[in-house]
Amino acid sequence: MMVLGEVTLIGGGPGAADLMTVRARDALAIADVVFYDRLAPTEGLREWAPAAELYDVGKRPGHRRVAQEDIQAMMTDAARSGRRVVRLKGGDPFVFGRGCEEVAACRDAGIPVTVVPGITSAIAVPAAAGIPVTARNVSKSFTVISGHDPLSEQELSGLAALGGTAVILMGVGTLGHTMAGLQRHGLAGETPVGIVERGFSADQRVLIAPLGEILGVAAEARLRSPAVLVIGEVVRLAATEPCSGEARSDTDSSPAVAGEQVIRAMAGAVL
Ligand code: SAH
Repeated sequence: MMVLGEVTLIGGGPGAADLMTVRARDALAIADVVFYDRLAPTEGLREWAPAAELYDVGKRPGHRRVAQEDIQAMMTDAARSGRRVVRLKGGDPFVFGRGCEEVAACRDAGIPVTVVPGITSAIAVPAAAGIPVTARNVSKSFTVISGHDPLSEQELSGLAALGGTAVILMGVGTLGHTMAGLQRHGLAGETPVGIVERGFSADQRVLIAPLGEILGVAAEARLRSPAVLVIGEVVRLAATEPCSGEARSDTDSSPAVAGEQVIRAMAGAVL
């Protein structure tokens, strides 16, 4: 009788190897095959999954490397042949990660599938710049939105009216549309916006400017994906010093990550 394999969908967190969960590392340790994405932590993959075949199925913005249906077929085929398959993704698998589709594909194929949650960039990447998504008396909600496609007028007006914090992922390409739309729907041009590019990497950058000016600041800085956009008063709480969350010694006052850069076009107000 043939033994059926299994699929484990892993959220690898926002890119730092030590922000992966113990459960994720345990699943990698016994994996036979790993299909990994671009934003997942991968530098130690050979060591974390010593027995596994490793496949890069990462997608770069604009050009799909491997079609979603092909990834799903590869996963289910490998599991059907009795192997322990890990699908390693950035952040959390259920936050704009197509995790739901992959779970459905496994279920349809009759393959046991489990999901290991990960630390989502929606919360962790702002935190790497010292921006809390909520703060008492400042913001009591945060809304996480995909900026992959331009927001509709209805979405823009809802977001502008909601108050609280807006966190936009995949929002670099649509930045101009979003910023102009939010202002058109009544959000003040002075509303602070923070953009954290390549969070948790050695070249993390943080841009902070008022809504009305952020587009110019981003253009001048040649902002690139991946980046997380944060809109709302919490941005004023951003650390004045770079604050990537990487380990640093008590006595070391230099930036936590070499090369890290903060570009501020507005003063951090004390609240
Ligand atoms: N499932 C992921 C999100 C996938 S969508 C999660 O939960 O984090 C991909 C988007 O996530 C990117 O376009 C960017 O907006 C954001 N992102 C992920 N990792 C990031 C990082 N290290 N730095 C900045 N943005 C990141």
